Amino acid sequence: MPRERVQVAYGERLFSYGFGAYHPFNRTRTSVFEEKFSALLAGQSDLIELVEPEGCREEEVTLFHTPEYVSFVKMACSPKSTVRYLDYGDTPAFPNCFESACVVVGTTLKLLKSIASGKVRKAFSPIGGLHHATRAAAGGFCIFNDVGVAIEYALRFLGYRSIAYVDIDAHHGDGVYYEFEEDPRVVFFDIHQDGRTLYPGTGFEHERGKGEAIGRKMNVPLAPRSGDREFIRSFERGVEFLKGFDFDLVIFQCGADGLAGDPLTSLRYSSAAHRFAANSLVELAEEKCHGRILALGGGGYDPQNVGDAWITVVSVLAGIR
Ligand SMILES: [Zn+2]
Repeated sequence: MPRERVQVAYGERLFSYGFGAYHPFNRTRTSVFEEKFSALLAGQSDLIELVEPEGCREEEVTLFHTPEYVSFVKMACSPKSTVRYLDYGDTPAFPNCFESACVVVGTTLKLLKSIASGKVRKAFSPIGGLHHATRAAAGGFCIFNDVGVAIEYALRFLGYRSIAYVDIDAHHGDGVYYEFEEDPRVVFFDIHQDGRTLYPGTGFEHERGKGEAIGRKMNVPLAPRSGDREFIRSFERGVEFLKGFDFDLVIFQCGADGLAGDPLTSLRYSSAAHRFAANSLVELAEEKCHGRILALGGGGYDPQNVGDAWITVVSVLAGIR
């Protein structure tokens, strides 16, 4: 794989998005990634460009989210608020959660704009891919869905006609799937643990899009305890599916919670799954969309796994062996 410069968003404003030490989405989940990333950066500083996290404007958030929901989040994280959860009990409100969620969105948009400008072809944000939030609600640790905002932004303002969204997080990307279920411009491929055994309980094989978008979405649920072999076999099917479409950008949600030992899921991948997926997408993006890939960290609740999976992805994007 040829080597190329990759932008990586990095900074405390981004890493501090989380729900406290006793919540799975906490500040320490990225600790091993940060250590390994420092080491990678020390050896490959010519290939990795650090990008400061950035907030965004409310008008950007409402490209995807409803104004009512955005106002609710703002109210819920104000000092006088008595709201404890933004959803049914997974996603607590916390002081400044509105600003913090805006930094996730703003940083994803910053990388997207950088790719669109031609400055780099590939970029990664470790805190992004918050795929469970819907247009009108939080869900599964996700306040604002940066993927949804990025898709809307790219389709409206960057002249992209179609986007491929690929999600290997152990959980189904329901917030992206259902909000674009009828939109033929979003080609969707998601491998996850079977919804009968894991949150959010969706993402079945028969869910292939609706209306004009029928056949432009592919969901592959895997049984609990599936490992690299099952993953690779399914991912190959996904790549064949994606090859049937044209698109201008790949958004890759590379959640690390499918690796063996994750406290929230029952899959048993190793980081070889991430290597295979990233390598395949690099090749596919070269063929389809001038090599453009926006990679987003997603879930992952075992720090070692998070470090292994994400460093693998960044290394593959940069062509570092
Ligand atoms: Zn997940």
